[in-house]
Amino acid sequence: MIKTYGYAAPDFQTNPQPFDFEHRTPGVHDVHIEIEFCGICHSDIHQARNEWGGSLYPMVPGHEIVGTVKAVGSSVTKFKVGDKAAIGCMVDSCRSCENCSAGEEQYCTNPGMVGTYNARDKQGNLTFGGYASDIVCDENYVLKVPEGLDLAATAPLLCAGITTYSPLRHWGAGEGKKVGIVGLGGLGHMGLKFSHAFGAKTILFTTSASKIEDGKKLGADEVVLTREENWHEPHAGSFDFILDCVSAEHDINPYLRLLKRDGVYCTVGLPEDPFKVAGFSIIGRKYMTGSMIGGIRETQEMLDFCAEKGIVSDIEMTSFEKLDEAWQRVVKADVKYRFVLDCRELRK
Ligand code: NAP
Ligand code: ZN
Ligand code: ZN
Repeated sequence: MIKTYGYAAPDFQTNPQPFDFEHRTPGVHDVHIEIEFCGICHSDIHQARNEWGGSLYPMVPGHEIVGTVKAVGSSVTKFKVGDKAAIGCMVDSCRSCENCSAGEEQYCTNPGMVGTYNARDKQGNLTFGGYASDIVCDENYVLKVPEGLDLAATAPLLCAGITTYSPLRHWGAGEGKKVGIVGLGGLGHMGLKFSHAFGAKTILFTTSASKIEDGKKLGADEVVLTREENWHEPHAGSFDFILDCVSAEHDINPYLRLLKRDGVYCTVGLPEDPFKVAGFSIIGRKYMTGSMIGGIRETQEMLDFCAEKGIVSDIEMTSFEKLDEAWQRVVKADVKYRFVLDCRELRK
């Protein structure tokens, strides 16, 4: 077994506390990674606090994981000791359903992907995530970190990156398209970078006046402050695609009205409560959909794209000692634009 030092939420009311546990002894297809950095995703907080229901404890959050390969099983071909490697939101899936066969393992139907944490693996054991010193994972669910990327700033690509890259690609964000990104947090700032890099005219919608200048630097052609009255009027009926990256309850009807005929509103944000949609907001033949992370092949494609274009996340390093404060600031939308934990300190 692999002795592991981490942080776990013991229940829905308590933030993660020091927690020692064991990962399985690596099997022939497994990679053992010493974790160096792990991003803090808002989903960590939603799940630790049981905001989506069904949470499993103790919960070691973290699914934006990068580190160094410490050992590999005898059948592993993609990795060798010393390689930089990464793990995102899933560590397994059935590998045979229609979606797994299509390389969209995140949509596995049999019975579903195995989450990196807050899930049970095929043996029924709880999975433990990246707020920890080590992780063991089948090589098929491990990504290669291309050379030249800053490792700490690469961690958030494993969730915030792929979650915005995938829908922007799927719905064809690119030249000649007008794309809206709603909410400038971890996901939103990656959405801005990708939409801009794909060549789309990109508009940011934010509730934070303090983020207007950053929004432009991160790739927005225009920033709309949604706290102002009638903020939506100049853009009515003009968007091809809107990606909503907001973590909390908000009115999505104005965004639906900003779409062109056949325009698509896609949420990746997962507020606790259901959305309320007026029929009048969508009868202009508008589409409303959602998207969840991305498959392993596309996640590798995204990492390679980032290496080619020099794209990483804008991060603020933090430590386990300051985890409570970091989570509090995430909830207050006060992070520019992703916290990253230094997991190396856990091995000292
Ligand atoms: P985050 O860093 O906390 O960013 C959320 C942003 O939402 C904030 O920065 C803020 O942007 C905006 N916001 C917050 N409260 C708001 C409110 N009351 N009204 C309007 N806007 C508000 O969160 P994140 O890590 O990017 O995650 C965003 C959401 O995506 C979370 O719900 C998370 O669980 C979900 N998620 C989904 C997937 C998926 O696969 N679909 C993957 C990862 C995360 P402004 O300050 O600019 O307004
Ligand atoms: Zn996430
Ligand atoms: Zn499957």
